[in-house]
Amino acid sequence: MVSRGKGGGAEQGGGSRKLTVKLRTAKGRKTASTRWLQRQLNDPYVEEAKRRGYRSRAAFKLIEMDDKHRFLRPGMIVLDLGAAPGGWSQIAAERVGAVEGRGQVLAVDLAAIEPLPGVEVLTLDVSAENAAAAIRAGLKGGHADAVLSDMASPATGHRATDHLRVVALVEAALDLAEDVLKPGGTFLAKVFQGGAGGELVTRLKRSFAKVSHVKPKASRKESPEVYVLATGFRGAK
Ligand code: SAM
Repeated sequence: MVSRGKGGGAEQGGGSRKLTVKLRTAKGRKTASTRWLQRQLNDPYVEEAKRRGYRSRAAFKLIEMDDKHRFLRPGMIVLDLGAAPGGWSQIAAERVGAVEGRGQVLAVDLAAIEPLPGVEVLTLDVSAENAAAAIRAGLKGGHADAVLSDMASPATGHRATDHLRVVALVEAALDLAEDVLKPGGTFLAKVFQGGAGGELVTRLKRSFAKVSHVKPKASRKESPEVYVLATGFRGAK
């Protein structure tokens, strides 16, 4: 059942009073999917993404991180890993000028990505044996100025398994970054709390001049996701 009411959670936006959408299952209980749908329906970022024509609310995380740290510049070559449905690629294409034919944005995902202006797409698993060669071949000059990874696997609910998967994806992204980045290049990756601990941070500090963690406001507070931003790539070994 869907009910629309002016409950205590009503948001104020653009001067007009917004209604909070409340969902309940038939027995009045909230299942995980009901909670997800209710959150989506009441999320200002979801609404704003729709208004601006962005493919995902995740677009705002990249906007925020780049506004603060300025790692996307006109003419850059950007590799976007785990890019579907394409929100980050849209922002990267705007900021490097790929929409006007400057720089390049190469979007990679297991899932298909509908065509986007200024974005080239490769559908593949980054852990596949041929992934590095296919990506190098897709990048202009075989190199990138920035490698972004928002990759995530669906959670299994089994903590140890989920943690291993997260670490494996970050490592795969970092392997690719170390392979294709130009000296001075930037690596930004979703790591989840605890994901960029110990060995990964040591490895990042060896390869990059500066390593920091970032949690954009658009990232839900209750989500364990954080991003690691590494700048000043020291060059391939
Ligand atoms: N940044 C995207 C945006 O703004 O639209 C959202 C990315 S979504 C949170 C995570 C993506 O990682 C999913 O589309 C998933 O298919 C992709 N992914 C997970 N494992 C992958 C892998 N091994 N190779 C390529 N993509 C992968």
